Amino acid sequence: MNYAAFWFRRDLRLEDNHGLSQALKSGFAVIPVFIFDESILSKLSNKEDARVSFIYKQVTVLKQELQDLGSDLLVFAGKPENIWNALFDSYAIKQLYYNRDYESYAIQRDQAVKELAISKNIACFSFKDHVLFEKDECLKDDGSPYTVFTAYKNRLLKQIDMIGPGHVFVNHDCSNVSSFWKCNSMPMFELQQLGFKPSSLEFPELSIRQSIIKQYSEKRDYPYEDATSHLGIHFRFGSISIRQKAKAAFALSPIYFSELLWRDFYSMILQAFPYVEYSCFKPAYNLIEWENNEQFFKAWCEGKTGYPMVDAGMRQLNQTGFMHNRLRMITASFLVKHLLVDWKWGEAYFAEKLLDFDLASNNGGWQWAAGCGTDAAPYFRIFNPELQQQRFDPEFKFIKKWVPEFGTEKYLPPIVNHQEARTKCLDVFKKALSN
Ligand SMILES: Cc1cc2nc3c(=O)[nH]c(=O)nc-3n(C[C@H](O)[C@H](O)[C@H](O)COP(=O)(O)OP(=O)(O)OC[C@H]3O[C@@H](n4cnc5c(N)ncnc54)[C@H](O)[C@@H]3O)c2cc1C
Repeated sequence: MNYAAFWFRRDLRLEDNHGLSQALKSGFAVIPVFIFDESILSKLSNKEDARVSFIYKQVTVLKQELQDLGSDLLVFAGKPENIWNALFDSYAIKQLYYNRDYESYAIQRDQAVKELAISKNIACFSFKDHVLFEKDECLKDDGSPYTVFTAYKNRLLKQIDMIGPGHVFVNHDCSNVSSFWKCNSMPMFELQQLGFKPSSLEFPELSIRQSIIKQYSEKRDYPYEDATSHLGIHFRFGSISIRQKAKAAFALSPIYFSELLWRDFYSMILQAFPYVEYSCFKPAYNLIEWENNEQFFKAWCEGKTGYPMVDAGMRQLNQTGFMHNRLRMITASFLVKHLLVDWKWGEAYFAEKLLDFDLASNNGGWQWAAGCGTDAAPYFRIFNPELQQQRFDPEFKFIKKWVPEFGTEKYLPPIVNHQEARTKCLDVFKKALSN
């Protein structure tokens, strides 16, 4: 019997999954596959990494759903190219389907598997699923990519208007489940066999409360309200469909919809300017002479800077794997501008800790904070953590929750003086940029 294979990666769901829907239409029985990629897992130093627990949980759910349909999910751990080599030798696979991933490692991995497949006369088909729009779908009139979010967004809104939302937020039908291959159920291996332990962190639910969407525009900027969706991790691993959420947001909340477009925007920037993964978007900023004081960096990581807004954000991150967007901006700005630590150090720390870590959005957020990214705001706009607190946590509700010793003798004095740090930062940035 001949088969098509579908490779799950950042799309861990059976509903509205573009590549899967195409595989189910192929005319072949579809073998679903998931691979725990050893090159990714081996780089994670925390053996209780919550993202691994999350993926393991989602994969277990998927496997059960497929077993209930009389099929199964083949789950492996190893190097994808080797696993596919063995699978191509074991099953008469004629076609391989997957959804596109835009990170540099994933692009190389997929290219290697594609070349392997083609060498064995297996056709490969990849699809857009992870984003609403890929890089070539929204370009300036001269064919170049947008680098300013507002212009990008306005163009997209026009396009959606012209094409019609129903054609943009398409639901890819995966109901043809009789096309999955039929097999006996196979057991799932234990998380411990991957060398990881279950995380004690809680994962956000799949659904958003209606009240959050309704009040999003008024409350989203106030961390103590906890009025954002926490859906980042589900978008990251595709346990929900971005099209379904965007469709609902488009109808109900323009502001929430606009936030989803930021995600697309940063993905587009990474696709169009892949060098941002290693360098400043504006290369002149690569010349900044960071102080990289390790004691300061440690204090920042631990939420012990003596600036309560910064400390509250870092402690929320360390304890929950989540940090509110306002705090991400404040803490990132503080590390880069007040402590003169290279934004890449902070980017790496967030990458290790955030449940919703996404290379493109994290990189975009950090470059924004450092002033070296796509944003046009001049570098001399430096967040004042105290003013941020007065504006966004005026009654210290958020701070008291995460920094209980704040206001007592036990709370540490500030590690740097705001005015002095500001002046020094301006000098260092000016020196680099006047070269
Ligand atoms: C320094 C820094 C680092 C960041 N790192 C990440 C990251 O690793 N992963 C990540 O998903 N977001 C990142 N963001 C963006 C933003 O902070 C988070 O998406 C948001 O706080 C997640 O919470 P939520 O799901 O409750 O968001 P909501 O406010 O409910 O927004 C819904 C969704 O919209 C998208 N979104 C919202 N704001 C942004 C934004 N500014 N940029 C890109 N997408 C956005 C996310 O997918 C988010 O889940 C970062 C921002 C900064 C300033």
